[in-house]
Amino acid sequence: MADYDTVLIRYGELSTKGKNRKDFIRKLDKNIRWILKDQENLEYQRTYDRIYIRLNGADPAVIKERLQKVFGISSFSFTEKVPSDIEEIKKTALRMAQEAKGSTFKVITRRHDKSFPMNSDAINRTVAGEILRNTDHKVDVHHPDFEIRIEVREYDTYLTSEKIPGAGGYPAGINGKVLLLLSGGIDSPVAAYELMKRGLKVEAVHFASPPYTSENARQKVLDLASIVSIHQGSMRVHVVNFTDLQLKIYETAGDPYAVTLMRRMMFRIAEETARKHGCLAIATGESIGQVASQTLESMVCINDVVHMPVLRPLVCMDKLEIIRIAAQIGTYETSILPYQDCCTIFDPKNPVTKPSIEKAESYEARFDYQALIQECLANTETITMYPDSNEEEDFL
Ligand code: ATP
Ligand code: MG
Repeated sequence: MADYDTVLIRYGELSTKGKNRKDFIRKLDKNIRWILKDQENLEYQRTYDRIYIRLNGADPAVIKERLQKVFGISSFSFTEKVPSDIEEIKKTALRMAQEAKGSTFKVITRRHDKSFPMNSDAINRTVAGEILRNTDHKVDVHHPDFEIRIEVREYDTYLTSEKIPGAGGYPAGINGKVLLLLSGGIDSPVAAYELMKRGLKVEAVHFASPPYTSENARQKVLDLASIVSIHQGSMRVHVVNFTDLQLKIYETAGDPYAVTLMRRMMFRIAEETARKHGCLAIATGESIGQVASQTLESMVCINDVVHMPVLRPLVCMDKLEIIRIAAQIGTYETSILPYQDCCTIFDPKNPVTKPSIEKAESYEARFDYQALIQECLANTETITMYPDSNEEEDFL
């Protein structure tokens, strides 16, 4: 069994310079410590372009699983420790080469302990020779598929090979705050993940229409928020009681325009909620063409009621791609639970696919929606969700 000693973390997307770079690294360091806070005895070291964590007996499988959730990490590698003995080094390097992905390699040795009987060049050649004799791999010093790095110290030698891909992106929370319209569907939790990956802190607004929508449906949304909150520490969810406004819409607009009006009301409420909580933009899980309300004409008509930018991270993604991400981030199973959302309950038979702004406005002129919007805002409950329900602190 490999004796892992240290994990070496490489940063992603570091085209940022100066103060931005410092903020990036400081935030990343904080986010990593937060996600590993239940792991005792870890020791951290930060250099210009790397973070090292000495494991001191911590379980590498747990560390690996956690680090893959942290945005801002481009890749990381575990380092194995063996006694400073050339036979041990050869044996371990060979095993790493056999396990590595790819067929071309390069060995890079640094000898800190000058009393070691071979110099770096001789170690490189000996280790490479061992790999060449026992595998089909070839040496490529310019563009190898993988590198075996060897650091010889007085008693122990450290070997690193496999690069484990990180989640990429920017450390959660360094790029400001957005308010996401979060339903219980497949798309919006994926949108939350994509926004967080860009370093945005995500708050959510959910529209519930009790008693037409159930407690289960509401809990499902909170559970989804809890699942994605692991990437930013916690997630606030503003649950809006939408019942009265929604009933009034159906009474006033009738079938074809009901969805359009409902969305326009959702956007208005979202924008006010965003402003109140310091969010600079709103966001949705919409994707062009997916359903009637997501045609370009429909987006234009819905977007017309707000002034803030509306971020739609999934706008050009295929459903299959969205489902793949949902499965990967662990929201898919919850999203497909069959509890009805406010949209599905009042699902009209013939929604208009090319709504006009004039027509929407003429329906809206028939009732005092502003008063109902104010009521919705007053009837909003804010709940903070954490990845683990016993959680108390968050890192943002
Ligand atoms: P999702 O899978 O995210 O539910 P969808 O494919 O079902 O999306 P729609 O029902 O048209 O598509 O919803 C489009 C977007 O509108 C959602 O991604 C979400 O951002 C927002 N939305 C829909 N219903 C609600 C709701 N009840 N509360 C908050 N936001 C909602
Ligand atoms: Mg939906």
